[in-house]
Amino acid sequence: MYYPEPIERLIEHLTRLPGIGRKTATRLTFFLLHANNTYIADLSESIAQLKEKIRLCSICFNITDIEPCQYCRDEHRGKGIICVVEEPSHIMMIESSNPRTYRYHVLHGVINPIEGIGPEDIRIPELKERIEREGVTELIIATNPTIEGNTTAHYIAELTKSLHVRITRIASGIPVGGDLVYTDPLTIKSAIENRRSLSDDSQPLS
Ligand SMILES: [Zn+2]
Repeated sequence: MYYPEPIERLIEHLTRLPGIGRKTATRLTFFLLHANNTYIADLSESIAQLKEKIRLCSICFNITDIEPCQYCRDEHRGKGIICVVEEPSHIMMIESSNPRTYRYHVLHGVINPIEGIGPEDIRIPELKERIEREGVTELIIATNPTIEGNTTAHYIAELTKSLHVRITRIASGIPVGGDLVYTDPLTIKSAIENRRSLSDDSQPLS
């Protein structure tokens, strides 16, 4: 049993979206069928403009509708430090905890030999060029703490060795509010490796 063709066609399009099965797609389609015309027109226009207006920033490769992007044009951010992330969405996460602090460089992926993704396939050559051009003093490599994320971090450190730029890696370990009992051994190992001194920074109590 099939619905009329325009309904089936929309269901078919919606099931291609991540996490949407036929049941949800059908529910969404019937919601749209009953929605008012202004909403339908706005929704269609938003989808059409997504591809039309969103591009990559020519400096940091973040997704943007202005050139250069809002982060690259923000003079409040120091020029010397660049935070390197895997995906544009990761910028938002860093901004939420460190607002208006860093400039960014989006790699759009990580090195993954199994899937045939090498350094030239992500924005690593552009990063090297940028370090030389902008006189960057520190790279904070904020790729995920996965095998591929670590490989990418080490590759960048090796590649930029001769450029006299300080390379730092975000620490991985026990989350704030976490409990050792519920933490996996690899994370505990990483937390111990990334331990820091308390006594060096401690102030006298009186
Ligand atoms: Zn930018």
